[in-house]
Amino acid sequence: MELHNGAYVPYAEHRGRMENVLAALERVEAPRDCGIEPIRRVHGDAYLAFLQTAHERWVAAGRSGDAHGYAWPVVGRRPLKLNRIDADLGQFSFDASSPIAAGTWDSAYWGAQAALAATGAVLGGDQAAFALCRPPGHHCGADYLGGYCFLNNIAIAAEAAIAGGKRRVAILDVDYHHGNGTQDIFYDRSDVLFVSIHADPATDYPFFWGHADERGEGAGQGATLNLPLPRGTALPEYRAALDTGLQAVRDFGADMLCVSFGADTFSGDPITQFDLQTADYTPIARAIAELGLPTVITMEGGYAVDALGINVAAFLAGFG
Ligand SMILES: [Zn+2]
Repeated sequence: MELHNGAYVPYAEHRGRMENVLAALERVEAPRDCGIEPIRRVHGDAYLAFLQTAHERWVAAGRSGDAHGYAWPVVGRRPLKLNRIDADLGQFSFDASSPIAAGTWDSAYWGAQAALAATGAVLGGDQAAFALCRPPGHHCGADYLGGYCFLNNIAIAAEAAIAGGKRRVAILDVDYHHGNGTQDIFYDRSDVLFVSIHADPATDYPFFWGHADERGEGAGQGATLNLPLPRGTALPEYRAALDTGLQAVRDFGADMLCVSFGADTFSGDPITQFDLQTADYTPIARAIAELGLPTVITMEGGYAVDALGINVAAFLAGFG
């Protein structure tokens, strides 16, 4: 269960999502294990240790169900070592919608491995590869979880691409929600461009990030581009924003593209408010593919479970 709009409701990010997508894909490979090192390029050791032990510590504290935080250090977030599970849940998260279950670490770890496998395929010469990650990743930062996200798969992919010799990586986030964690991880970096097309955070989660005036800082000034759109956005307005984003990728001179793909821009999604149709995903993807860049795609959101597989397949068809 998750806390959503004031009530505990069934978790929108559930296993059925992956089953629906797997049934729609023609060729699927299980990732090999690249180990923890590529994950450590993005996430710190204290956070990784927390993720791996949080549920055990929750149970050891006499709690049942999934681990939830309830107090957050809004002001002066310091790296305190309080050795108290409730304090650590606040220290390492930014919302209450992402409980940690017994299997969370394993799922997040293998989601990251899928992103690494896709990156490896592209570095090895494939033009595009898709990582069916679950849980998603774009909301979590280097040392905090949130928004159903625990390890930032697209950031891990981008760092692996740089370690593999790429010099300028563009991340294009086309989930309905702003990829606040990804933005945060690369906010002061000049070698990674972050472009996000998403619902205006003035009306939609995650509220505090994704506004158009967030453009990066320090060396990363200008290497963040947020393109917020109003609720009800359909293909014509979406394509206009996409064209702006794609031009930014060209202007940046990227030699690698990482795409955070969420199908929660779909008109039938139960928790979002855009108006894209299944048939829209192919031309959107085709426009992205026309950049001609080696491309890693990771799965982010998408909660219209019965349509998730066909929406993912429609998007991937644009890269075929
Ligand atoms: Zn989303």
